[in-house]
Amino acid sequence: MDKHDQTLTGQRHVDEVPFEISLRPQRFDDYIGQSAIVDNFKVFIEAARQRGEALDHVLLYGPPGLGKTTLAHIIAREMAVHITATSGPVLDRPGDLAAIITNLETRDILFIDEIHRLPNVVEEILYPAMEDYRLDIIVGQGPGAKTIKLELKPFTLVGATTRMGLLTDPLRDRFGVVNRLDFYTHEEIGQILARSARILEVTLEPAGAVEIARRSRRNPRVANQLLRRVRDFAQVRADGIITAEVAQDSLVALDVDEAGLDTMDRALLRAIVEQFDGGPVGIETLSTALSEERDTLEDSIEPYLIREGFLKRTTRGRVATGRAYEHFGLTVPATLSAEAGDDQQPSLL
Ligand code: ADP
Repeated sequence: MDKHDQTLTGQRHVDEVPFEISLRPQRFDDYIGQSAIVDNFKVFIEAARQRGEALDHVLLYGPPGLGKTTLAHIIAREMAVHITATSGPVLDRPGDLAAIITNLETRDILFIDEIHRLPNVVEEILYPAMEDYRLDIIVGQGPGAKTIKLELKPFTLVGATTRMGLLTDPLRDRFGVVNRLDFYTHEEIGQILARSARILEVTLEPAGAVEIARRSRRNPRVANQLLRRVRDFAQVRADGIITAEVAQDSLVALDVDEAGLDTMDRALLRAIVEQFDGGPVGIETLSTALSEERDTLEDSIEPYLIREGFLKRTTRGRVATGRAYEHFGLTVPATLSAEAGDDQQPSLL
């Protein structure tokens, strides 16, 4: 898989980071969509500020690129507190977390991305920290070991995860606010693109925005990445203006099809249809067939295919839907046509 494909599936790349930061909304006013969640947060933040208290602990979940990190930073800004950002896999030992958490000021926010990847020993010291603002640290080993209790300043943990199902019950239960970020509508993606184009100082015609929005997998990160690439085409091959035609031609060159599916999406669907007779096929088998990590398939690629009704997750494995066959111009098997009226949008997780 080349770099383009990876970025189009919503994965984060080091070279994309400065670009993302410049486009990242700083305030609720610029954070487009997710209005039910945003409206609630405005109330919770106002209430916490009036009481002079820390905001309740928050858990945000949903596929990569939908705005979890952005939301965490906005919450901190609106609360007028500092935010310290880290991630589950980085926190190897309890001491790593203790060092960060003891440095927080009153009402500060600790943001832990990929919180489902927190090692157990680290997760356990979070429980009293979240519940009683207390750290129980074990010093020494064997019979001489002692537990030291450290008082913490009231803080807010904002956890983000792409895999709600992998969170342990005790951790999940300690969050007062739990929100799932949803895919965006094409109109919302269009607004995000218009805002990004203004920041990047590129002329994006409304029809060009519609073209890009349609193929952005309903995902702001993907939309911004496509915009950046289309801008390159516009600059080199057109006169810098992103018209519908320029957008269309660029997206064809980038191998993003009409439905917004990229090379990897199509490879996955084609594998199920052609190699495994439409499924069901296990995720491990698919991962081997495509030489792609299971996590990438489950976190970044499948949710959109499920959302759009190309794929179903069943207890026996992944199954291609009639829409997947139609997408490739193939005859829909009789067994699938019979099911056409079924609800084809099972839960994301
Ligand atoms: P996640 O943490 O869920 O992987 P991010 O918060 O890093 O996603 O979002 C990826 C990028 O998409 C951000 O840099 C930002 O530019 C853009 N973005 C995400 N959500 C929104 C939104 N609601 N409005 C505008 N831009 C957004």
